[in-house]
Amino acid sequence: MILLTLDLGRIQMSHALSLDYIKIKDYTICPSRYKYSVSDKSHVDDKNTFYHNSMSFIYKSFYSSLVWSKNKPIEYLIDLYKKDVANIIGMSIPDDNKSINDVINTIINKIPIIINSIKYNKLVSINSLVDYDLSIDYILKNEFHIKFSGNVDFVHNFSDRDTWIFSAESSKRRDKVVDPDLLIYQAFLYSVKHKKPPSRVGSIHYSFPNNPTTYIELSTDNILGIIDKSYSVARDIHLGKFPTRPSGHCFSCRYKKICDDGSRFVFNKKAHSIFGDDDFSVDLL
Ligand code: SF4
Repeated sequence: MILLTLDLGRIQMSHALSLDYIKIKDYTICPSRYKYSVSDKSHVDDKNTFYHNSMSFIYKSFYSSLVWSKNKPIEYLIDLYKKDVANIIGMSIPDDNKSINDVINTIINKIPIIINSIKYNKLVSINSLVDYDLSIDYILKNEFHIKFSGNVDFVHNFSDRDTWIFSAESSKRRDKVVDPDLLIYQAFLYSVKHKKPPSRVGSIHYSFPNNPTTYIELSTDNILGIIDKSYSVARDIHLGKFPTRPSGHCFSCRYKKICDDGSRFVFNKKAHSIFGDDDFSVDLL
């Protein structure tokens, strides 16, 4: 864990603040939504689903258990997955709308595609890492402690000066990319943790094995932009700023039923679209 000391002003702090990319994004969209989400214990983390845990097992086995070096890696990995599947089920929550057998068949069908993508694009290095923890701690003026957390799906260290970091994208849409700001956030954490930026940052589209990689432009400006945004969010959270910020995001916000400003915004937008009256609006009590 790396500790840096930065001067960001006179912020009085007594405890650590833990932020990740999703929380920073939530706060940027609506500070109030962030506040609701941190106290919401009902929200299920889809990182523990059977599908997610199965994919994690596949990648970890392929790289960390050196399945890539076997004579018949596809058959070997399918066999390994079948042997371990009961354990994976045991530590997972069920997937929405998918049976266990559906997920198992999906994973087994994906294994040849994944391995061929990796093979044809030579995405293996001596120190390839999977689900790599990028978390860093900052101490600001000995009083403001922030933990910025995050993981990246793959790190390939081809040499001291050539490290690629990738996020996996399983969508069947080639134009769908992992959120570029997430990739820059990961590059920011990696740069701090390793005291040098990665040489390439991108996503791997496993539905397109012949051309699976997309890279993003990495510049000092875009890394500094993410750093500024992250610190600005951290500072405002510690100053207790949680205003509502009604917008189109209210329609899909899971907290709109308990948020007066959000439910008023949604009601007025719907009423306007039905009645077509610019002045139609209500104030909730
Ligand atoms: S409903 Fe809208 S204003 Fe309310 S918390 Fe959600 S995003 Fe924010």
